Amino acid sequence: MRTYFVDLHIHVGMNESGKWVKMATSRKLTLANILHEGRNRKGLHILGIVDAMSPRVQEDLEKQLAEGVLAPLRGGGYRHRGGAVLLTGAEFETVEEQGLAHCLAFFPDLAAIKLFSAEMAKHIKNINLSSQNCHLPMRKVLPVIEHLGGIFLPAHAFTPHKSIFGSCAQRLDQLLSPDLLAKVAGLELGLSADSALADRFSELSPLSFVSNSDAHSLDKIGREYNIMQLADANFQEVVMALKRQQGRKITANYGLDPRLGKYHRTHCLACDTITDAAPPVRICPRCGSGKIVFGVLDRITEIADRPVPVSPGHRPPYYFQIPLEFIPGLGKRAMETLLSRFGTEMAVLHEATEEQLAEVLDRVLAKRILLARSGAAALSAGGGGRYGRMN
Ligand SMILES: [Zn+2]
Ligand SMILES: [Zn+2]
Repeated sequence: MRTYFVDLHIHVGMNESGKWVKMATSRKLTLANILHEGRNRKGLHILGIVDAMSPRVQEDLEKQLAEGVLAPLRGGGYRHRGGAVLLTGAEFETVEEQGLAHCLAFFPDLAAIKLFSAEMAKHIKNINLSSQNCHLPMRKVLPVIEHLGGIFLPAHAFTPHKSIFGSCAQRLDQLLSPDLLAKVAGLELGLSADSALADRFSELSPLSFVSNSDAHSLDKIGREYNIMQLADANFQEVVMALKRQQGRKITANYGLDPRLGKYHRTHCLACDTITDAAPPVRICPRCGSGKIVFGVLDRITEIADRPVPVSPGHRPPYYFQIPLEFIPGLGKRAMETLLSRFGTEMAVLHEATEEQLAEVLDRVLAKRILLARSGAAALSAGGGGRYGRMN
């Protein structure tokens, strides 16, 4: 078994012929750049792209396959130039009784995801674009995914606008029957939650949790990732790790301190404050307005069936990491210097010593990186779409 760094939620912004896949992202967010950034600058081994349902992305994948840039793997997935392994996935929006939910699916190969895409195109208005509404509940989509050899996971499960717990239900079994529930491959925590928060739901105990970047730009790839113990890097091995079969497993989650996420606490739309009052906050304590974006911590406090987390024996540790972009005063130049000295952002965040950092950075910045690593940095919580801050 070997150790692999895995980020399963990366968006494609534009395809190689200049057509948008995810509007309002960066033109640099192309498949080729994602593969380069993910492997060479972030140090990731397995990258899940979640827009492979788009024919525009499929066009790129087919071209890269024809040119030999991507090579199919026997266990599913594709190897890029002998380096990173790419998994073909899709994010889509389902319609449940009470609201909308984002969901993820991954498939062993392009052939399978093309069949899924053709089926979903009957329900989605523009299949070329990312994370589109499929006008179906997840209970109707999951069997289709299953039939095509794919896996299903709820995406950023607690975020306020579009997620199972944020806007649709208090329990997964309100949306899925027991036989379908048994087919859920895992649960994506989202940036504003962590394993401890999710372990306040007893029904989630059997599920593996994944922490992914949900990157909408190159620099955000790997801001959350999973460490997996696998025999090899491919689709089937990742599925086995999620199901914890034959020694395959997730051995650690790395993610933002949930307070840094964009929806951790309730945000008041009337007076533009992010609350720090005891959760759950539904009415702004500052101005009394009820026009709010409900926070992830607030929602979890309201609906969880356990007052404190109970973590099952299989649950791996969740390590907080503060990406370099959150370090106050660390600009683009310092970032480039660090990457050229240490190779990848992961090496800077987790391995570089204070002496090594101080050789290339000013001492204050070096100390801030270490403070962030120690978990002792003072943070202000995010909310309403605004990230939290390191003070
Ligand atoms: Zn989403
Ligand atoms: Zn207010």
